[in-house]
Amino acid sequence: MDDLALKQAAVQINTLSGWQEFCMQCRRCSLRRGARGVVFGEGSAQPVIVFVGEGPGAEEDRLGRPFVGAAGRLFDRIIKAGGWTRAEIYIANVIKCRPPGNRSPGREEIQSCLPLLQKQLELLNPRIIVALGAVAAKTLLDDPSLAITRERGRWREIDGRMLMPTFHPAALLRDPRKKRPVWEDIQQVMALCEKISREEGTSLDEEEDSSGGG
Ligand code: SF4
Repeated sequence: MDDLALKQAAVQINTLSGWQEFCMQCRRCSLRRGARGVVFGEGSAQPVIVFVGEGPGAEEDRLGRPFVGAAGRLFDRIIKAGGWTRAEIYIANVIKCRPPGNRSPGREEIQSCLPLLQKQLELLNPRIIVALGAVAAKTLLDDPSLAITRERGRWREIDGRMLMPTFHPAALLRDPRKKRPVWEDIQQVMALCEKISREEGTSLDEEEDSSGGG
């Protein structure tokens, strides 16, 4: 699939299920040859938050689902602590096919896959994105020199959405000292979620008040 075909599809397809169907056939880069399949992402089709990780590992590739290995189990504990379930949020990765041997994806592979994620984010239209780890943060913020240890915990804005960079759950497995900073970052995300739901609740009440007055 060349860039033109991808652009045309991105214009024509306007549902998440349609985009998923399209992406599942993707062979834009060589990663697809070594993977069992494309791991598209999963969760609510109208999430307030989308979590974006790096790419599928062995378990994710085997099951075709994101964040289901050891790091995924820790991720589940993180979102539970935040008060969310998997059904309420959405989980995706920068790369949709497993790199061989779980190596980090290369720059060209990321650039091949990025338009697929960008369209996915456009369709999901979340208010908040949490970038899990350096690869996700660098890619989404288009900043190859970003240092996750320095930038985590600081809100950024992309395409009208708030983005919180934090450590990847796999980094927490390697270094449990990172658990506290991640919890602090998640608390910031929780606070913004509450603010959004208060604002949306307020605007809903206002609509009800004005419609009930006539
Ligand atoms: S990694 Fe992304 S761009 Fe490469 S084949 Fe898989 S879905 Fe397509």
